[in-house]
Amino acid sequence: MPELPEVEITVRRLDAALAGATVESARAPGMNVMKTFEPPLDELAGRELTAVRRIGKLPVVEFGDLALLVHLMSAGRLRYYEKRASPKDRASRILVRFADGRELRLREYGTKQRAWAKLLASDAVQGDEAVARLGPEAWPAPAPEEFAAAIDQPRHLHPLLRHQGDIAGIGRSWVDEILWEARLSPFRKGSDLDPEEVTRLRDALHVLGDAIDHYEETVPAGEQLPDKAPKPLRVHKREGEPCPRCGTTIEAVFFSEHQMNYCPQEQTAGRVLKDRRLSRLLK
Ligand SMILES: [Zn+2]
Repeated sequence: MPELPEVEITVRRLDAALAGATVESARAPGMNVMKTFEPPLDELAGRELTAVRRIGKLPVVEFGDLALLVHLMSAGRLRYYEKRASPKDRASRILVRFADGRELRLREYGTKQRAWAKLLASDAVQGDEAVARLGPEAWPAPAPEEFAAAIDQPRHLHPLLRHQGDIAGIGRSWVDEILWEARLSPFRKGSDLDPEEVTRLRDALHVLGDAIDHYEETVPAGEQLPDKAPKPLRVHKREGEPCPRCGTTIEAVFFSEHQMNYCPQEQTAGRVLKDRRLSRLLK
């Protein structure tokens, strides 16, 4: 699932490759992908792609005064191709064809169609409900007071940091890395942190910037992040391996659709948290 660092490198490379390209046609083979109908997608024909950027985890493809706001959900990917998609490509959700033969494609893996897009007036993007409800960007880190206010809530840090309405850009992979970097338990509550812990947590957001730097170094200029490129993660999904800092075995808590990893020595005062998957089986 792409999170802020993956979406950032994606939009940087799309912007570098496609800015200035003229749209020949645009259509949406994904039946339910477009959440707006006016203006229609083919309004993009003849326009120039002016920029690609992101807001939180949402890519925004700008065509002058129109913008395509995209939500990749868990399985969507936005890439450009030198050649056009085969009509048999059942993963295609949106195809923006350029006069030079290239194609920007929103594709989605799996059978579910969850990714969506809206074609909006560029000046309406910020006010769109999907954008207006977002908290401050997780990277670059918000100002200290803004960050402290965003996490001052009586909820566990793991879901709190992943909740886009509180802080935008973090998902199930990078939350584990941020909490490990901050040496904080995923089960601490945001409002229970002391000022020093809030500072540590805010400082830990640098792992997002480090990940972007990693992608800049490992994905050659002019290329795109491969769809299944491994994320440079040190604790997420690394249960059973030694903590890269202290050597303690990394533990996991499994939920129905995700897992949480942490170093018990440094994050939970030596306590190994109950595996909810196991306790469910024992009920
Ligand atoms: Zn450790």
